[in-house]
Amino acid sequence: PVAIEAIELVKDYGSGDAAVHALRGVNVRFEQGKFTAIMGPSGSGKSTLMHTLAGLDAATSGRIMFGGKDLTRMNDNELTLLRRHRIGFIFQSFNLLPMFTAEQNILMPLTLAGAKPDRAWFDMLAATLGLTDRLSHRPNELSGGQQQRVAIARALVTKPDLVFADEPTGNLDSVSSAEVLGFLKRSVKELGQTIIMVTHDAVAASYADRAIVFADGRIVADVDRPDADIMN
Ligand code: ADP
Ligand code: ADP
Repeated sequence: PVAIEAIELVKDYGSGDAAVHALRGVNVRFEQGKFTAIMGPSGSGKSTLMHTLAGLDAATSGRIMFGGKDLTRMNDNELTLLRRHRIGFIFQSFNLLPMFTAEQNILMPLTLAGAKPDRAWFDMLAATLGLTDRLSHRPNELSGGQQQRVAIARALVTKPDLVFADEPTGNLDSVSSAEVLGFLKRSVKELGQTIIMVTHDAVAASYADRAIVFADGRIVADVDRPDADIMN
């Protein structure tokens, strides 16, 4: 089954002669339970695709089908609910709250939504991400790799259908990167998540089931089981 699909997706910034064509009619389907890497040079449209798919940025034209609905036709309330309950985000800079423990950070999306945690799911996430003995630590007591694993647990705590990761290993050394990518790969396999990850790094992309390469607002390559050597 298809988790999310973009149809003739166009995004312009500005208009007229000064317009920047960030997405020039992108057609792409992301299958449920797959880990896809989006690659391509700086300025090629990767972030714009991610932001429009997540409903953070309005498309200029085209459709985005998610769960049988066209996301481009949703109002702000519907989009907020969608992001809160069905989409998870992982950022390059972790974005953890320094005053709160790892556990409180992980539970934050539920706390903000006033929702009760599923304790079994939480415990499973913490164990899968190797955080069980770090839950009472604050972010500054954790390594970069551990902080990013907390951020991944936070992204998954609401059991989202879809997870967007924006350069999740951009601030990590190679050992922590391998760890984080290994967990993303496992979470696709074991928890059935759909993950869309923007990365500059061919090694990071090689953990994905599929890699899409952007250039100048268009998809120029789409490969299954990307190999780090081929992607370079
Ligand atoms: P990437 O993520 O691949 O680096 P982006 O999606 O950020 O690419 O950018 C695609 C194009 O859109 C670039 O030319 C960029 O300068 C432009 N762009 C991105 N965001 C904005 C914005 N808020 N206003 C104007 N232009 C933008
Ligand atoms: P990782 O393999 O997760 O990147 P490191 O090898 O960087 O971990 O760190 C080893 C241990 O040192 C970690 O368990 C962590 O608790 C602790 N640690 C790392 N960085 C910091 C820091 N900036 N402040 C406090 N403790 C840290």
